[in-house]
Amino acid sequence: MASIEIAGLNKRFGTMAVLKGLDLSINDGEFISFLGPSGCGKSTLLFCIAGLEDIDEGSIRFDNKEISDLGPRERNIALVFQDYALYPHMTVRENIAFPLRQQKLAEATVDKQVAWAADVLGIEALLDRPPAALSGGQRQRVAVGRAIVRNPSVLLMDEPLSNLDASLRVRMRTEIRRLQKALGITVIFVTHDQEEAMVLSDRIAVMKDGVVQQFAPPMEVYSEPANQFVAGFIGSPQ
Ligand code: ADP
Ligand code: MG
Repeated sequence: MASIEIAGLNKRFGTMAVLKGLDLSINDGEFISFLGPSGCGKSTLLFCIAGLEDIDEGSIRFDNKEISDLGPRERNIALVFQDYALYPHMTVRENIAFPLRQQKLAEATVDKQVAWAADVLGIEALLDRPPAALSGGQRQRVAVGRAIVRNPSVLLMDEPLSNLDASLRVRMRTEIRRLQKALGITVIFVTHDQEEAMVLSDRIAVMKDGVVQQFAPPMEVYSEPANQFVAGFIGSPQ
């Protein structure tokens, strides 16, 4: 059973069509990357899946249930933003606890979940620090901690590594894959870095102008590109 089924998804901003009849089925537990040039609609798609943007037409089904009318909190789909979006005036602990506090969970539950997320990401020692006292890689881990603290079954990541330097970026790839295996969740990862997508993904969706050009395992996208655009995009260094 597909865990996420997107059909005929249209999204416009004013008169500008950004997602144009997008169809996609993602299996439970898959690691999917969306790969495409800047402005092709990758972030907009994640926002639509997470419920942070309304869709104009089409459907988004999650475990066979239509979710496009649900609010973001009811979907249990977590999003790690490109710029991490940590709250600067809160400690790491309070940043991670924030989604749980919004649900008004009991203090003991909050403590337990925060301790679990911090343990998974190896950031226990950072819990009382403000975000300003962290390195880029540490901030990224905190943002992931805040995303997973509610035990989501789907994790959306919007270019989570693009603000890190090259060597850290390569190390974090391994960590993200490890995290996905440990949590047993579906990951939808957005990147404009073709090497990152090739290394990380079970399948890659190559996107151009709000349309998926090819959706296939990395080797197939590489060796049997569906069209000229895919061939050029996968073949050329970013
Ligand atoms: P990507 O993440 O692939 O770089 P985006 O999804 O951010 O692309 O943007 C796709 C297109 O939609 C771009 O032309 C962008 O300017 C436009 N866009 C994105 N968000 C908004 C918004 N909130 N209002 C108007 N236009 C937007
Ligand atoms: Mg984007």
